[in-house]
Formats: sequence, structure tokens, C-alpha cells
Amino acid sequence: MKILAIETSCDETAAAIVRNEGPFENRILSNVINSQIDLHAKYGGVVPEYAARNHVDMIDVVINEALKLAKIDFDEIDAIAATGGPGLIGGLLVGMVTAKTLSIMWNKPFMAINHLEGHLLTARLCYDVEFPYLLLLTSGGHFMFVEVFGTGKYKVLGETLDDAAGECFDKVGKMLKLKYPGGPLIEEYAKQGDQKRFKYAMPLQKKEGCNASFSGIKTATKGHIQSLGENLTYQDKCDIAASFQGIVINFIERQIKKAYAMTTTSIQNVVISGGVAANLALRAALLNFAEGLNLNFFAPPVSLCSDNAAMIAWAAIERISCGFPYSPIDFNTRPRWPITET
Ligand code: AMP
Ligand code: MG
Repeated sequence: MKILAIETSCDETAAAIVRNEGPFENRILSNVINSQIDLHAKYGGVVPEYAARNHVDMIDVVINEALKLAKIDFDEIDAIAATGGPGLIGGLLVGMVTAKTLSIMWNKPFMAINHLEGHLLTARLCYDVEFPYLLLLTSGGHFMFVEVFGTGKYKVLGETLDDAAGECFDKVGKMLKLKYPGGPLIEEYAKQGDQKRFKYAMPLQKKEGCNASFSGIKTATKGHIQSLGENLTYQDKCDIAASFQGIVINFIERQIKKAYAMTTTSIQNVVISGGVAANLALRAALLNFAEGLNLNFFAPPVSLCSDNAAMIAWAAIERISCGFPYSPIDFNTRPRWPITET
């Protein structure tokens, strides 16, 4: 089976062709991503209207490139998948209309995929990961612990009550006047910083469950920065970054232990996904957590953790393989689409 997938839910215009036969490293025939980061950088965040217009400009370019790199013709494609939600409505519409049009023109079935399901199943595109597993999805827009029982069978154990972790990294980056997105730069600065210099209270200390909250950490960081006055030195920035990243990771470690305690199946595997999974300090902390419990830890390559179309193609392959139906051609985009409703 070969699937062409399109992903346009946020600020990446992406198209990929993925097949389900052969060794893992040969499954992705092409995975093209046009990032809009430079377009949004001067605003310090994604501007939905600009994002949608740029998707319109780039969608045919990335699809053509994906077909070219995969060295296949459209008649070899078995089905066309696209992210149907959740995400920014303008971008979703561009991807969905394109996928539906190709589906009609080429006479191929169409499948709308939940973007989160793409993240949830990515690890199985890359490695031999058995269900069930405990997954942390941490990106610019989402933060959740999910017990993944099987394809289409998910239980959200806990999620953020306010900001996503990536969003918080980006906002702190903005406070430190770092280039957008702040996440990768904060990790760099943190390497040279003193994690103990700035103190934080652990969020949700008295709350049961494994929900998350990052807005308190963000506000505390703002206070720490203000206490330093107008001109921060390079070392100040490194120390803020290290202290901030330190509390975020400590908090995630604390909550994933609680998430694990809430699982109801015999979990052997822990998986991380989403753009923040690029953070090596976080990966190390989660590996440590998993090893402590004799669990396997899987972190897909960074390029597949952040938004991409290969994960959408893979989710379609998993769903088709399990006998889930294709989507009707009048499927409506769902800017809000809970993962439990797939
Ligand atoms: P996504 O939403 O999955 O496209 O991922 C983008 C988010 O991941 C942004 O909020 C980035 O700041 C964040 N991110 C990327 N790399 C890192 C990193 N090394 N450390 C922390 N956050 C990161
Ligand atoms: Mg993104």
C-alpha cells in the first residue's frame, strides 16, 4: 500500500508518500516539508491568515516534489490522506480541498486523519513498537499523556490545562528576545546556564492526576527576567533558560510517573512525540524514567516528531490495515477534534 498524505494544520505545508512494506528505514518514499517559520518569525508566533495563504501558494509545489522524490506516478498511489483537524481552519481547508480534489481527479479513496493520531502512531512508522504504550505528546499546540491501546483506541490520561509546553518555550524565548521559535534556542542557552540560579514552585502540587500547567512557570520566568532589570547579560539569559527548562523537565518527569500509575494495561513501552521531543535533555529524563521501570523508550527522529505528512500517511496505513472506513468526500474539517473521537 502506498499513501500520499498532506499536512497543513499549522505552519508547515507538507506532503509525503509512505508505504507499509519493507524494512522501517525504507517506508518513507518522500517526506517534503515547507516550513513557514521565517514568515511568522517577525510576529513571534503563527499568524493564521498568513499561514493559510502560504499553504495555498506552496501546496502544489510540495505535492509535486513528494511525487518526484518518491519516483512514482499518481496511478501507483492507493489512497490520499489529509489532516482533517485539529488545527487552524484556513490551513486545514487548503489541505482537505486539495486532497479531495486529487481523490476525485485520480479516482482514489480519501481519508481524513486526526493530526494527533499521526503523532500518536509515528513511533510505529520508525520502530517495532507493540501496543499498548504510554505516550507523551508535547508540541507547540498540544501536551498530553495518552494510553495507546491500539489503532483508534486511545485514552487521554492527562493534558495541559493552559499552555502547551512548546508554546511556553516560545513565549519565554520571546521574553529573552530570542528568535522564534524559542524552543531550540532555549535548549542551546540552557547548556551554558546555571539551573539552580532561579527558583520555581512545582505546578499543580496538590492536584491528583497527571494534568499539566505551564502558565505559572511562564509567569514566574517573567518575574525572574524583570528582577534583572533592563539589560540582560548573555549569562543571565543562559541561567534563565537553564532554570526554566529545568523546572519544565522536572515537572514532566513528575507527571509522567503519575500518568504511568494511571495506565490500566501492561505497558512495556514509553513513547515521546511532538516538536518538543527534539529537546535532548527531556529525552534523557524520559529515558531515565523508562529505564528505572524496565520499560522500553522510543523517540522517533526529530524530523518526524514535529509536524510532517509522513505521520499522516502512516496513520492512514494503520487505519486502512485495521479495516476502518475511508472518509466521505463531504467530510467537514474539524478545527477541534478530540483524539477520543477518531
Ligand atoms: P510542533 O508544534 O510539533 O511543530 O513543534 C514545534 C514546537 O516545538 C515549538 O513550540 C518549538 O519551540 C518546540 N521545540 C522545537 N525544538 C525544541 C527544543 N529543542 N526544545 C524545546 N522545544 C522545542
Ligand atoms: Mg509546527
